[in-house]
Amino acid sequence: MDRPSSPSRDARPATPKPGPAGAPAETGWLPDCVYTGEKFEPGMAFFADGQGRITRFSREPADLAAARRLAGQAALPGLVNTHSHAFHRTWRGRTEVRGRGDRDPLAPWREAHDAVAGRLTPEQLHDVARMTFMEMLLAGITCVGEFHYLHQQPDGAPWPEPNLLAQTILRAAHEVGIRIALLNCAWSRGSYRPGSEPAPARFATGGIERFVRETEVLHRWASTNFPADEAWIGVAAAGLGQVPLNELKALGNFAHSQRFRLHVPLATTAAENAACQAEFGRTPAALLAEHGLIDKRFTAIDAAHLTADEIKLLGAARATVCVCPLTAASLGQPAAPVEALLAAGAGLAVGTDSQGQIDLLKEARHLEYDLRSRHARRPGLSADPATTWWHAATVTGARSLGATGGALEVGRPADFFTVNLFEPSLAGTDPASLLANVVFALERRAIRDVWIGARQRVANGRHQLHGAIVGRFVDTQTQLWPRP
Ligand SMILES: [Zn+2]
Repeated sequence: MDRPSSPSRDARPATPKPGPAGAPAETGWLPDCVYTGEKFEPGMAFFADGQGRITRFSREPADLAAARRLAGQAALPGLVNTHSHAFHRTWRGRTEVRGRGDRDPLAPWREAHDAVAGRLTPEQLHDVARMTFMEMLLAGITCVGEFHYLHQQPDGAPWPEPNLLAQTILRAAHEVGIRIALLNCAWSRGSYRPGSEPAPARFATGGIERFVRETEVLHRWASTNFPADEAWIGVAAAGLGQVPLNELKALGNFAHSQRFRLHVPLATTAAENAACQAEFGRTPAALLAEHGLIDKRFTAIDAAHLTADEIKLLGAARATVCVCPLTAASLGQPAAPVEALLAAGAGLAVGTDSQGQIDLLKEARHLEYDLRSRHARRPGLSADPATTWWHAATVTGARSLGATGGALEVGRPADFFTVNLFEPSLAGTDPASLLANVVFALERRAIRDVWIGARQRVANGRHQLHGAIVGRFVDTQTQLWPRP
């Protein structure tokens, strides 16, 4: 139950404080405590300017009085979801069965994926993406890296506007209010070996020149339509098998010249590694490193089957590895060797990938407990796993995506969520134990308000467009999955 507090005081709008002439007005908040990067600070207000950037933290009595009081709540920086495919949300709960044959345990998942990818319209994608992004906000996620590979019309023909579906995703993110790095994904062949089957019609991006040209147009479109820190473009490759080496090199050069982030799924399965060795005589990470593609702007997705040399290589380059433990586990796949990667110097980020659940802290919890079980040791990832996992789901995610958030600091955006300290999953905690309580036990219903760039998007656990977004999504699901 909420601690009794004055509703009129709690519900009043944030107090704007006029600044010097011409300067933007200020907004301030005073939760019971705020996470400032190392610990929760009680009795501290924080303020943002008219651009939604944090200007200062203060304990001055006048500032405490001017700030909006968030009684019974703690404020934490918004989480960063480094790897997402919004449209995967559509088959949640529909692939949790064994397929007819045992040959391919992933067959039901693949069939659902291909069925949806084969017919999703731009309007349906819009409604699905809004639902997925809203669910992220309700889980405290304020920034997402959308790994975007659904490009063409269902028959493979380009849309009259080639970037129509990327634009659809960006518009959906804007309407929901989440920050987004759209990682435009190149996909030009089916798998390893020249002459292998073609890329699936809907995902195929053609030659690299065309992909680069269309991504430049998309970048200009995003820059024209949205603030640079709200929606921006990065690039991705579907995999080392799906983009030939000469095109990967061109993609890397393009990313470097534009200072774009580059994300590539790497070593997801042992079979992929074997195919990479067979075609190139190198492991995936060694191949990319040899051609200058691995650096601090590079993020490897999955990275489950790395060799010791590849771990060293990713660490020495200060690259990031993004793990998606719930998706991997749900598909029966192992997770990356996260302890060795961190020890080698690589960054660790977390993603919701296939949206089976949208909860970054559950992702962290799952892999942390998996490590403990595997090694019969606790804690798993580090001596203070709550802090390490929190860092992965905020600071490192932001770095991987080139986002401005990830921490509540002066100069960064006021992207944060509040938790109700009297909700049963958190009740009885104190500032010293709160982070571990959040990482290991927070229930989503304890997340109360979400602010992005000092604009409130979720109030009392409801998004401002909640009913409309859910209603449209349910209609879309009815169209996609007609009852027999
Ligand atoms: Zn993925």
